[in-house]
Amino acid sequence: MQDSQISCLEVLVPRGLIQCGKKIATTRVTYEGLCPISIYFKEGLVVNIEPIMNPKSKSLKILLPRFVEPHAHLDKAFTWGDHPNLSGTYEGALKENLEEHQKRTKSLVLARSERALKLASFNGFRAIRSHVDSTGLSSELTWEALIELQHDWRLLIQLELVALVPLAFWSTSGGGILAKKIAKQNACFGGVLVPPFKPEKVRKDLYNLFKIANDMGCGVDLHIDESAKEPGSGLKELINVLGNMKVDVPITCSHLSSMGLLKPREIKYFATQLAKFQINVISLPLTNAWLLGRKTGATAIERPIAPISQLQHAGVNVAIGGDNVRDPWFPAGNFDPLMLMSQAMLLAQLAPWNRFGLSPFTSAPARIMRLEWDGSIGIGVPADFILLDANNWSELLSGNVKRKIIIKGKFLEGNNSKFNQMGIKNF
Ligand SMILES: [Zn+2]
Repeated sequence: MQDSQISCLEVLVPRGLIQCGKKIATTRVTYEGLCPISIYFKEGLVVNIEPIMNPKSKSLKILLPRFVEPHAHLDKAFTWGDHPNLSGTYEGALKENLEEHQKRTKSLVLARSERALKLASFNGFRAIRSHVDSTGLSSELTWEALIELQHDWRLLIQLELVALVPLAFWSTSGGGILAKKIAKQNACFGGVLVPPFKPEKVRKDLYNLFKIANDMGCGVDLHIDESAKEPGSGLKELINVLGNMKVDVPITCSHLSSMGLLKPREIKYFATQLAKFQINVISLPLTNAWLLGRKTGATAIERPIAPISQLQHAGVNVAIGGDNVRDPWFPAGNFDPLMLMSQAMLLAQLAPWNRFGLSPFTSAPARIMRLEWDGSIGIGVPADFILLDANNWSELLSGNVKRKIIIKGKFLEGNNSKFNQMGIKNF
C-alpha cells in the first residue's frame, strides 16, 4: 500500500450505486447512466460527494466499488494442467476432480489458493465465498489450508467458506462431525443436488441438512440443478421441504441452471416461491455454458442457465459468480470481475448500465455474504474502489482495461514489503 492517502477524485460512477442525497439528485447523468462526481476520502472513508455540474474534461474515469465473488472453488483452482478434462463434460470434470484429490497436499492447496487470492485482490475483489471439497482423506488438509489463508488475507479479502459434499453426507455420522467442526469457523453448509435422484430420499436429506443448519446457525449454499436434464427437479423438492419446515438460516441456490428450461408459467411459479422463502440465487453462466447440454457432433443451441431476469422481477436476490477457474470444470478464468461481467453479458444479455445488470456483481453478492457494506456509494462508506482507465462502459468491458485498486483510500501496490506489513506472506 502507498503511504499517501488520496483526498479527492473526480470520477464517473453509476447512478444506481449512489446513495440518495439532496446534492446528488440534481447531478448530470450520461446516456450510459454515469454521474460525474467529486468524491472525498478521509481516514479510509468517503466523507463527501459533490456533483460536478460542468465537467471540464471528457476524460473522467469510471470508479466502481471493489467487487464480491459469491461462488469460487479456491482449493482446486489452476489444477487443469495436471487434470485436464478434455471432453468438457460434467462427468469428465468429476472424474478428474476425484483423481486430483488422491494427490492433494496442504502445500499444493496453499500455493494455488494463494495465487488465486493475489489475482483476485489485484483484479478488484474484496470478498470471496469459496466452496471447499469436504469429503475423503483430503478434506482435513484442505480446510487447514483455507482457514490459514482466511486469516492471513483478512485485511485484503474477506473469505467465507462453504463445505461442499454430496447432499446425503449430512445425513451420516460423518456429516454430523463435519458440521460441528465447520460451525466453529462460521462457515456454511453446502451440498450437491442434481438429477437423477430419488425424490423421497432427497427430501429426507434436505430436511436433515436444514435441521443441522438450524441447530448450528450456519447458512446453506447448494449446488442445485446444475444440469440439462429433468428441469427444476431439485428445486421442486427444495420448495416442497421448505413448505413443511421452518428454516431460520439464509439459503442460497447456486447454479439453478435447468430452471431456465422450465415452461414460462413454471418459472414464474418457482420464482415466486423462491422470493417467498427469501432464497438467494447465484447464477454461474460460464461453467454452465461450458459443461451443460453437450451433444456429440452437434453445437448445443439450448443452454441451461438460471432465468436471471425472471427471478429478479419476482423479487429474488440474484448474484453472478465466476465458479471454477482453470480446473477440470472450466479451463479458463482469471478471478477477474470485469472479465466475468463482460462474459456474463454475452451469456445472460445483462447490461451493466442497467440497475439489474450491475447489481448481480455488487449489491446482490454483498447481501448473500452479509457484508457490512453493499457496495453503494455514500458518505461514511469504506473508500474501497477500483479506478478504471475507461470513460464509458464499452472501454471498461474491452478486456484489457487498466485499473487501480483503492483500499481504505490508498492505492494497492504489488510491493512485497508492503504486503508483508499487512501480514500477507509468501510474496
Ligand atoms: Zn461451484
